[in-house]
Amino acid sequence: MFPRLEVNLETVQANAEAVVTACRRRGVEVWGVTKGTLGCPRVGASMLRGGVAGLADSRLGNLERLRRKLGRGVPLMLLRLPSPRQADAVVELAEVSLNSEEETLAALAAAAARRGIKHEVILMVDLGDRREGVLPPDLVPLAEAALAGKYLSLAGIGANFACYGGVIPTPANLSELADLAVRVATETGADLRVVSGGNSTSLRLVQEGSLPEAVTQLRVGEAILLGREPSTGEALAGTRQDGFRVIAEVIELKRKPSSPRGSIARDAFGRRPAFVDRGLRARALAALGVQDLGAGQLVPEDEGIAVLGASSDHLILDVTEAAGTVRVGSRLAFFPNYGALLALMTSPHVEKRYRSGRKGVPA
Ligand SMILES: *Cc1c(COP(=O)(O)O)cnc(C)c1O
Repeated sequence: MFPRLEVNLETVQANAEAVVTACRRRGVEVWGVTKGTLGCPRVGASMLRGGVAGLADSRLGNLERLRRKLGRGVPLMLLRLPSPRQADAVVELAEVSLNSEEETLAALAAAAARRGIKHEVILMVDLGDRREGVLPPDLVPLAEAALAGKYLSLAGIGANFACYGGVIPTPANLSELADLAVRVATETGADLRVVSGGNSTSLRLVQEGSLPEAVTQLRVGEAILLGREPSTGEALAGTRQDGFRVIAEVIELKRKPSSPRGSIARDAFGRRPAFVDRGLRARALAALGVQDLGAGQLVPEDEGIAVLGASSDHLILDVTEAAGTVRVGSRLAFFPNYGALLALMTSPHVEKRYRSGRKGVPA
């Protein structure tokens, strides 16, 4: 079936190994983030073979899938702050969750008490990116709330970067995180094992050797899945970029003017399109669209092909300079970025094919 997403599990494992090895040298454990793949158990299993300490995902539904297929032995982390209402499911499905609200901590403690188990929490601090986390002055009171009962265990503190504000991790803001961990430990007497220093964007500091020593953990998705550092989009040394490839079929091939004819208002998504008149061009339509790609982008494997745009169900391509022959029915390959991967894995219209997966881990 097409469109088809090909998943190279060997690449996922090799990239996990590369990231884990680089981090281990600095005493940092890596949690493999599966949310870009809808919590795919085969991808998770490949990350685990590559040596990650556990698997992390933003959605309970994805954690449920990982738990069901991979079993009790795999440590799971919930990345997105839970709502108080989700507390029972959270302590059931995840060993550890990221948190920033006292009310939610109380709900988690109550849910853990009902089960007679301990749930670990990592408290998030907002160090400037302005997504989740308490502001630094509010961290100690939140830690005190986490330490109040006996059913929560305060594993440590963490921060996230480059997700909303685009603020990148630096030796300075990660040292601030390290100092906050010391402050929480001295003021509450807690023994903080974890200083969770961010996502794939922190790997740049690992490579430069400038990650503060106090950082003990990173939560890494994109660098393992796509072999790229998200803040620059650049390939990460030692990783491969061929983990995911999407194949779509050509359903129309015509020579057409590169500019529209008629008066232009807005396109299917409310944008006002702009065009460069390049005269008559060989133009292909591929059967893949925004429904499968979301806000993501594709890079054609054939470097002579250019993606001109997409509507819900069509990808519009300039194939005038394609290196390969393009016909109606041709299958064209593209490399997705993270946004496209997220959507492709989520779309029920996209077939998933797994390459070189070892047997025994069903999707
Ligand atoms: C998604 C996410 C990550 C992983 O981000 P990557 O850039 O894919 O490495 C880490 N931490 C949190 C809280 C996240 O939501």
